Amino acid sequence: MSQRIQRLAIANRGEVAVRIIRACEELDIETVLLHSEVDINSRAYRLATKKICIGPAPTAESYLNIVANVNGAKAGGAQAVHPGFGFLSENADFAQACKDAGLIFVGPSAESIRKLGDKVSCKALAKSLGLPLVPGYQGEDQSVERLVKEAEAIGFPVIVKAAAGGGGRGMKVMRKSQECKELIESAQREARSAFGSEKVFLEKYLDRAKHIEFQIFGDATGKVIQLMDRECSVQRRHQKIIEEAISPSLTLEVRRKMSEAACLIGEAAGYRGAGTVEFLFQDDQFYLLEVNTRLQVEHPVTEMVMGVDLVKAQILTAQGDAVFGHLGQAANQRQPHGHAIECRIYAENPFLGGVPSTGKLGTVVWPEGPGRRFEYGFESGDEITSYYDPMIAKVIVWDETRPRAIKKMKKVLSESVVFGVHTNIPYLQEIFSHPEFVSGKMTTRFIDQYFSAPIEAVAPTPIEEKVIQEVKRKVGQTSSGPDQANESSPFSSFWRGV
Ligand code: ADP
Repeated sequence: MSQRIQRLAIANRGEVAVRIIRACEELDIETVLLHSEVDINSRAYRLATKKICIGPAPTAESYLNIVANVNGAKAGGAQAVHPGFGFLSENADFAQACKDAGLIFVGPSAESIRKLGDKVSCKALAKSLGLPLVPGYQGEDQSVERLVKEAEAIGFPVIVKAAAGGGGRGMKVMRKSQECKELIESAQREARSAFGSEKVFLEKYLDRAKHIEFQIFGDATGKVIQLMDRECSVQRRHQKIIEEAISPSLTLEVRRKMSEAACLIGEAAGYRGAGTVEFLFQDDQFYLLEVNTRLQVEHPVTEMVMGVDLVKAQILTAQGDAVFGHLGQAANQRQPHGHAIECRIYAENPFLGGVPSTGKLGTVVWPEGPGRRFEYGFESGDEITSYYDPMIAKVIVWDETRPRAIKKMKKVLSESVVFGVHTNIPYLQEIFSHPEFVSGKMTTRFIDQYFSAPIEAVAPTPIEEKVIQEVKRKVGQTSSGPDQANESSPFSSFWRGV
């Protein structure tokens, strides 16, 4: 039954909150931003129709607090809640609490999240459907002795992972028996403190695999379609940095098989809305890795090549519109057009191995142009704090072919300016020029193999130089050129907005 959403609460922050606000604006839906005390200096705060503070900066007291979010949504007069990604987006208790409070949760049911969101139960479902899995151990016996024995039986290298894990945390690769005990215990400790459960499981570690994932979408009638794949092999510490659609590595036949597997597990779990089925792909074989029961950070690349708006489709589906929101009956027959690449811009210092860089944003320039999309949650004058994920923006480009998209991305990055904090832009530039990336052959070990050391300091680009000169002129500075390694660098905290 269709229930028109007039006001929607956003249980998130940063660029994804802005993304949801934009979709709501197009659907004539008002928004209620549920924010922490420190996030009043953010773009989402400025754009939302209504804002409700749900707690202080630490995530446990605000963005991860189920009661505070549900109460905030009710107090704001919302009929629905969009959880974005991260935070409570894959929390079945939150989906249930929203439902119990009479709120529409924009996402799958609590039951589907339970079946797919927990990595161990997801694997059990995949196994019952006959889908290919990486060999491993998912047993209840969690004693270190048993886990070591199982690792030896699987054969090294073996990866130990948190059952409730996410974001690449709580994972360790074990290469020999002697290091198992220490690494398993450390994974258990990390899992307990990050996810509240020390349950782990083991998998054979595939050391030349690609990460390829399929976008699925379930409509209000229980049918699940696929909207092609994304390749996310460029990762650091198991976290994605660059994503593209569609993967340059799949044959038509393999793509068909993987997409069928993705839809099969979605339908078996009664999936509704946007979800992602992740696979590892090695030696022409694919293995189901996990299912993410939410919108994915990298959803824009799918939107660009498939010509869809996944957030609008999520909202329309949540309010009960039948055929995949606005995607229409023929959504399953859509063909990808051109190539899209996204990179995540992190506030970190690439010249010091990626240590986080916090502070107030100075001049920020995102160079607009055809086939360029910028998703960002903070503007000049906003503070990047240490409380949250250091991703400050996403840059997405589209062009007719992969080589042209790479060329465009390099151009866009060279014209982008972010002052006030360091960013990984110089690091990304090096990756986009690397022959293995250009050939499309990179595996998930790409960063470890070629970019494990801090990169060399680079000179400001011509556009950065122009901004520096302008700021100097305005503040009457006469000091000599910038030195990126020290605090007076325009990339750190000195050059605040023009
Ligand atoms: P998370 O939920 O924390 O993102 P995933 O299970 O999705 O964890 O894995 C994240 C990344 O870790 C993968 O994309 C891949 O690079 C690496 N990884 C996970 N499992 C394996 C494995 N069995 N072999 C090789 N790499 C793996």
